Amino acid sequence: MHEIADILLDWSKTIDRDLPWKQTDDPYFIWLSEIILQQTRVAQGTPYYLKFIELFPTVQHLAAATQEELYKAWEGLGYYSRARNLHASAKIIADEFYGKFPSTYDDILQLKGVGPYTAAAIASFAFGEDKAVLDGNVFRVLSRLFDIDTDILSSQGKKEFQLIVNELLPRGESAEFNQAIMDFGALYCVGKTPDCMFCPLQQHCLAYKNGSVHERPVKKKSGKKRHRYFHYFVLGLPQNGDNDTYYLVEKREDKDIWAGLYQFPMIENQNKLKHISKIECKDAFDISIIKEPELIYETEQTLSHQIIHARFYQAELSNTHSIVSDNNNNNNTSDYKLLTEQNLKALGFPRVIRKFLDDFLLTE
Ligand code: SF4
Repeated sequence: MHEIADILLDWSKTIDRDLPWKQTDDPYFIWLSEIILQQTRVAQGTPYYLKFIELFPTVQHLAAATQEELYKAWEGLGYYSRARNLHASAKIIADEFYGKFPSTYDDILQLKGVGPYTAAAIASFAFGEDKAVLDGNVFRVLSRLFDIDTDILSSQGKKEFQLIVNELLPRGESAEFNQAIMDFGALYCVGKTPDCMFCPLQQHCLAYKNGSVHERPVKKKSGKKRHRYFHYFVLGLPQNGDNDTYYLVEKREDKDIWAGLYQFPMIENQNKLKHISKIECKDAFDISIIKEPELIYETEQTLSHQIIHARFYQAELSNTHSIVSDNNNNNNTSDYKLLTEQNLKALGFPRVIRKFLDDFLLTE
């Protein structure tokens, strides 16, 4: 075990993986990077990390942000529950801990949205606590080194691999070791093309010896994704006296994906191809529109357990009196807001809608 850790530590000195959050031992920055990188590739997450530390340089800044500001900064990353958890935890740290980040694994684990991996990463990188991390890269390296065929998504698998990595962890060098084994999985012992021939761990690698490298790790496929059909209504109201068109938007509710983000009024049904009529639109939203809605754009987005098929229909509102109380400000008490194209740019939207806005509505 010691020899494997030593080889990994030596190997890590030969690489240059200069990621911005590796330059700091500030637990707030490490926490931000770890939450942003959950379910997100490094190349995609890095600009978000840089944006967040600029917009919210301390945990107090993050705690003081409005949900709108936070969602706008988070837009495009998906899994918005991560942003909500960040915000909730930042407020707790700012209010109840006087802005001081918790400093032990057990305390960090109490933060919302922080699981064993993230708590171990922060505790080891920021505070040097002897806690071993277990992420997808570490699972892959261990499953090959020890030729383990237990499903890494099962609770049994998680326990088994955690015990092994705990054994491997050299005491007093947790930050260096955790970084080394994650980098080794990300850069060397990669999924499809690991360079086994020249691998410094080849002599210790049971999967290499047994010819099972490409069968490790074992990951049982989860069930089929659910298909959902969202029909969005881009309802515009050309204003007298100015050239702006105003669009109707609403905030999504808490109980479904993308809670707290904005959307055009939407009907969900079970049939992608079914065209939604003017009458259905009136029934669903209690809104009168001129002419039948016209289908103008289609796209889709794949989430972890769902595939969203989105259709966008354009139509003109006949009047707004029953819809919004004050159509020119953001403080209206109605559920709907009427906003100009310029105002739309400042809101947080799900990726399918942002794509529509970028490709179609806000092209100039
Ligand atoms: S020999 Fe191949 S499979 Fe084994 S640790 Fe090295 S790169 Fe990974």
